[in-house]
Amino acid sequence: MNQIASDIVAVMVSVAVDGPYSYRVPHDMQVARGSIVQVPLGPRKVTGVVWGEPKDKVAHNRLRDIETLFDTPPLTDELMKLVDWVAKYTLAQPGMVLRGVLRSPEAFEPDKPVTVYQLTDLRPERLTSARQRVIETMEDGFSWGKTALVGASGVSPSVIEGLVKQGVLEQHFVPPPPIVTAPDADHNPLSLNDEQQAAVDAITSNGFHQFGVSLLDGVTGSGKTEVFFEAVAACLKAGRQAVILLPEIALTHTFLDRFEQRFGARPGEWHSDMTPVQRARMWRAVARGKVPAVVGARSALFLPFPDLGLIVIDEEHDGAFKQSDRVNYHARDMAVVRANLTKGHVILSSATPSVESRNNADQGRYQHVKMLGRFAEAAMPDITAIDMRADGPEKGEWIAPKLAREIFSVLDRGEQALLFLNRRGYAPLTLCRSCGHQYQCPDCSAWLVEHRFRGVLTCHHCGHEIGVPKECHKCGADDSLVPIGPGIERIAEEAAKRFPDARRVILSSDMGTMAQTKARFEEIAQGDYDLIIGTQLVAKGHHFPKLNLVGVLDADLGLAHGDPRAAEKTFQLLTQVTGRAGRTGKSGRAFLQTYVPEHAVMQALVRGDREAFYAHEIKARGMVGLPPFGRLAALIISANEHDVAFNYARQLAVLSPKAPDEAKLKLFGPADAPVAMVRGRHRVRLLVQSEKQFDLSGYVRFWLAEGPKPTGNLRVQVDIDPMSFY
Ligand code: ADP
Ligand code: ZN
Repeated sequence: MNQIASDIVAVMVSVAVDGPYSYRVPHDMQVARGSIVQVPLGPRKVTGVVWGEPKDKVAHNRLRDIETLFDTPPLTDELMKLVDWVAKYTLAQPGMVLRGVLRSPEAFEPDKPVTVYQLTDLRPERLTSARQRVIETMEDGFSWGKTALVGASGVSPSVIEGLVKQGVLEQHFVPPPPIVTAPDADHNPLSLNDEQQAAVDAITSNGFHQFGVSLLDGVTGSGKTEVFFEAVAACLKAGRQAVILLPEIALTHTFLDRFEQRFGARPGEWHSDMTPVQRARMWRAVARGKVPAVVGARSALFLPFPDLGLIVIDEEHDGAFKQSDRVNYHARDMAVVRANLTKGHVILSSATPSVESRNNADQGRYQHVKMLGRFAEAAMPDITAIDMRADGPEKGEWIAPKLAREIFSVLDRGEQALLFLNRRGYAPLTLCRSCGHQYQCPDCSAWLVEHRFRGVLTCHHCGHEIGVPKECHKCGADDSLVPIGPGIERIAEEAAKRFPDARRVILSSDMGTMAQTKARFEEIAQGDYDLIIGTQLVAKGHHFPKLNLVGVLDADLGLAHGDPRAAEKTFQLLTQVTGRAGRTGKSGRAFLQTYVPEHAVMQALVRGDREAFYAHEIKARGMVGLPPFGRLAALIISANEHDVAFNYARQLAVLSPKAPDEAKLKLFGPADAPVAMVRGRHRVRLLVQSEKQFDLSGYVRFWLAEGPKPTGNLRVQVDIDPMSFY
């Protein structure tokens, strides 16, 4: 261990500060780089990590002492370097990045022992029937935990306490059972087809002790999960830990079951659906090297694995891997950074890789592992565009006649159909016919979306809600409010009218708990419904064996924004949702309702030519120097008053430092952000674009350090490699 001899050390505290502070090490304490400690900070006590020697040795009497050294393994050098790296790259404060690593102080104490009971030779003076039951239960000679004993003998806890007092039962304190049982790499491997085996061979060819990235680029249903499970098995056999990151916690449960089938034990879990106590226990077990494999959300990337050998990013293109609150990091990119530090391997798995990863593979920086066949005979869906300009539905309806006919014939055959619209609620806008009033959020530049099911108009940015009005708030007219445009609830209404005999189910993230959603998915898989009406929620990861037709009601929905990734995101989402059709045996069909059937995205989908899409998109990005051929950073300047935000942004723009010509730096703005107000705060945006090799993070850091300090309620948020552009 890197024992530090000095009696003054630098401690990185897990709060919003720019760097480590110096603390004194008490005489009876031995710390090392990475030691997790508690230190006083102003009036508070905070958790921190010993980062190394202090920068400057301030006079002893002005320093405060480290208060507690936790009994937990020190952070590894690799993880500390990752924290520094992420902070530097994203311009977040290192203390805030560290906070993502250190979860809860309870995690740093050793596991609390649990109490168990054992039967002695003594018997109670008075043998009540309750006591009798306890004794009978325990005659098996085993040790029993209290809850189990209460459950098995059906008595109240006081009976057990009474027996302890009389010496009939003895209490012992034992270590708690391990949080996970070790996965068995050889438990139940599937026999792979040739393409799958070739993929496994390629990915595992360099072992798990050197840095490398594989792009596992395979169509939906080709067996990517089975392939990366084999890589996990190989990594475990090599004696290192593996982590699998998933984009959605809704998918975790099925995934955990699948893991258990393959490895005979559940992996460690890590996601927001766990209690603080569960998280603390998991963290502690990971830090002590007791969890060989973890499956979790993006934050699992920052778990304190002692020796991480493999990181799998499933659905690597998914936007959920980008965190955008205090620390704007992209888990996919930071996974590559961490693997580089640990000399480990990364698998990026997707049926529709991000243009970034695809380009890295094309350029030979990543190993490109392709899987083009679906497992078993299922073929790719046959996709048809419906030109809404010529063949659109009647006014007030959203399902084109051609799509409706197809649905009827699918229903006649007893198969399932899915109607997909990626918009929650009933209608995106409510308008007064007599005065023209549009219902808007008072605090955001956004319409209030009607959710008829819940009886409210709601803002999708801040959650502001009002009851569905009966009369216009502005002119007072009765019966003058009309919904404009469809949301998924409105599609469900139309479907009920047109297909009254079909057993229908509507699925949208705002319409039920996670458990309810999970139950619906199971019912769909069993064939309890004929017609599924859903949002993005149904697009991801599920296997619906009877689903043979997918109708996308508004294929153009994602294209409308000023977002450089709009085409890519649309292509990914539509590939994913149309890929739900025809997963077993027969080939499915999909229909895209579009006003721009000539668009490159629609063309690629209809022809089943994803290579054409990537070629087109990569070329288009290259021509204008957008990622992955250049870099982008967004600065969102927000304030309670528009002028304050705008003037500050203008000042910053004027002060932007000169960059060398070869950086090809371009500054756009200031301009009002596309969503110009959120939660009452005005948002002004500056966008900077540079050449790929240029250190744009460093440039922005220097720029902000030289610029005027934000004061009052003014805030500057920096987003390096922005994924959303609202
Ligand atoms: P992907 O992740 O590429 O969409 P999956 O790994 O989920 O594909 O595989 C699709 C389906 O095919 C799953 O139900 C999976 O269990 C099954 N499958 C894939 N490969 C095999 C195999 N070699 N043997 C048996 N079943 C397989
Ligand atoms: Zn709002």
